[in-house]
Amino acid sequence: MITLRLGDRDLEPQRIFCIGRNYAAHVEELANERPGSPVVFMKPPHCLVPVGTPLTLPNRAGAVHHEVELVLLIGRSGRPADIDDAWDFVAGVSLGLDLTLRDLQADLKARGLPWEPAKAFESSAPVGEFVPVESIPDRDRILFDCTVRGELRQRGDTGLMLFGVPTLLVELGRTWSLLPGDLVFTGTPAGVGPIESGDRIEISSPAIGHFSWTVR
Ligand code: ZN
Repeated sequence: MITLRLGDRDLEPQRIFCIGRNYAAHVEELANERPGSPVVFMKPPHCLVPVGTPLTLPNRAGAVHHEVELVLLIGRSGRPADIDDAWDFVAGVSLGLDLTLRDLQADLKARGLPWEPAKAFESSAPVGEFVPVESIPDRDRILFDCTVRGELRQRGDTGLMLFGVPTLLVELGRTWSLLPGDLVFTGTPAGVGPIESGDRIEISSPAIGHFSWTVR
């Protein structure tokens, strides 16, 4: 089991919640419909690829896409009562990649089937190191980006989320009681695209840090 370190605290990730279609420009690039409420799916914790761990892509046909996302590390148990106390449930933040088998996902979507084989495969969730949420100067406007082989592919601004962090946590709390160690991948901005063996993927945010993996 992977352990996530935050200051002097060690947290074991229990579940990974992921949010789909949370930035308008990304909804448009995949020709999806804008959701009326957050789109939620999950990955098991063994999908995580911490910094310094080799990133191996699945041995399946079709494109693997990068999706850089702000990642929340939940620090306490329970359900946020309303949007005003939702941030209190977040202990740390980082960046991660919601790697996606895009051709397979398109096929599953077209057939109305669940996305798990396209989203929850092994090594599908590289994640950076976490910083305490208190260290973020403006948590409603976190800027981040993704570069592949030195080429800028995605630029994100959490101020542009369709559903902001408090709304996402209240919405998750309607179905699940949050647990310390839970992670929330909060959705990707536009610019998703394929990665291949040998690519170096870099994700960074001035407020959080800079993390990279080289695809095997
Ligand atoms: Zn995503």
